[in-house]
Amino acid sequence: PNRLEGKVAIVTGGASGIGESTVRLFTKYGAKVVIADVQDDLGVALCNDLVSESGDNVIYVHCDVTQESDVKNAVDTAVSKFGKLDIMFNNAGIPGNLDFKILESENENFKRVFEVNTFGSFLGAKHAARVMIPAKRGVILFTSSSASVVSGESPHSYTVSKHAVVGLMKNLSVELGQYGIRVNCISPGSVSTPLLTNAMGLEKAAVDDILCAASVLKEVVPTAEDIAEAAVYLGSDASKFVSGINLVVDGAYSTT
Ligand code: NAD
Repeated sequence: PNRLEGKVAIVTGGASGIGESTVRLFTKYGAKVVIADVQDDLGVALCNDLVSESGDNVIYVHCDVTQESDVKNAVDTAVSKFGKLDIMFNNAGIPGNLDFKILESENENFKRVFEVNTFGSFLGAKHAARVMIPAKRGVILFTSSSASVVSGESPHSYTVSKHAVVGLMKNLSVELGQYGIRVNCISPGSVSTPLLTNAMGLEKAAVDDILCAASVLKEVVPTAEDIAEAAVYLGSDASKFVSGINLVVDGAYSTT
């Protein structure tokens, strides 16, 4: 129950989906958490919900991950409010347009998906490293996607943005290991969050049925919490010798 006791974390995209589940689990396991998102109403509501449960251990900051001043502010807020930063979870992401065919792909969409998913992750890592290097400890996590290991099932923009995150993670794991900073990715398979239900244009229950039917682990409905559990593991000291990995959490889907 105390796997993250004493840890201070930032979760970008923390107001919804995988981020929200991670914020809930991180606080449940004892961490102090900064929820960083652009959906202020959702973020504040989640924060209020958790503050009533677990006390003054959660705060919300407005943070557009593509804006360096916002990312800097989120990191500085974690340090000023909670004293340090142990876990930076660069999780915010967008699916972008579902333009699978290269001749129909819009250039501006490609740039925007890359800006949020990849450049936003880069900024998060950069500002986390700014405070983690002098502290000589820390964990930087990214949410990539099974699109980093499965070809042809996601739009080019999304696939490229998520491959790039894995490359960033690998480079950083080598660069920052000397400072005691571990750097890893989580690559979720499909789980029914607002991102996926909106993209599919279906209700959550219908999406869950489809995911369950497609799952290698029959009868198991994948959830955002399954992904958040991976973040708990990689954020905790239980993974103290794990760095430079892309942990695929997809119930073997990508191996079929
Ligand atoms: P979601 O839409 O429920 O949550 C994403 C959150 O990111 C939202 O709260 C959104 O407001 C926030 N966000 C978007 N742009 C932002 C920005 N510029 N700055 C700050 N926050 C921003 O979706 P989710 O499914 O929980 O997605 C979380 C991550 O998981 C994303 O990186 C996504 O690509 C990845 N992912 C999701 C799935 C899936 O099936 N749901 C699969 C693989 C990877």
